[in-house]
Amino acid sequence: MVAYSRYFYLLNYLPYSKHLHIILAFPNAYYNKLAPMGKMENMPAIQNEVLYAMQPELAPADAAPPGKFGAKDIMDLSWKNLLDAYSCTECGRCSAACPANITGKKLSPRKIMMDTRDRAEEVGSNINTNKEFKDDGKSLLHDYITVEELRACTTCNACVQECPVSINPLDIILQLRRQLVMEESNAPQEWNVMFSNVENNFAPWKFSPDDRDKWTETI
Ligand code: SF4
Ligand code: SF4
Repeated sequence: MVAYSRYFYLLNYLPYSKHLHIILAFPNAYYNKLAPMGKMENMPAIQNEVLYAMQPELAPADAAPPGKFGAKDIMDLSWKNLLDAYSCTECGRCSAACPANITGKKLSPRKIMMDTRDRAEEVGSNINTNKEFKDDGKSLLHDYITVEELRACTTCNACVQECPVSINPLDIILQLRRQLVMEESNAPQEWNVMFSNVENNFAPWKFSPDDRDKWTETI
């Protein structure tokens, strides 16, 4: 009987302790994405923009502009991203496998998960105190996770591969990076040149698509 009461005590203690991840690891692994790891989620609003540019007749006359791109704060992330953050055991295997981290860049996928959890805790206590979220002038992007960290990610998926509890730090990085580039136009000059070439020339290079087969004339 004493042994059982210890188990019940442990079960009551876990949700309020730093060991909550022990419980959350199971649903987190269950809800893991089954799609191939390298498959990125498309952005329907962008897909539609491209479609309407190629086939203007399909564009609705009263199309509302898209709300926002990417994520700036934890409110913009999915419930799975937050479950990921609370399931993290802080073991550091992701950072040990991260090529950016290994080569001395300022990026640690483990820190990305801890930052997300810390910001969620901060927003939670804000809501508890004020009965609703009162703007505190902070956000996950910039105040917790910096531009330098986001730019250092090579999108290699090593962190996702290594995590023993199926956490996906890259998904959060991608969403923050989309916000950075598409909402704040905050990208290195080299990226902006490439973006504009893709937009105008349908390729990352500055050559006109009409000149693309000119190389055949030289042989
Ligand atoms: S490998 Fe997974 S559990 Fe370990 S620190 Fe990284 S995200 Fe957290
Ligand atoms: S996807 Fe990004 S954060 Fe994850 S291991 Fe690769 S470089 Fe590091």
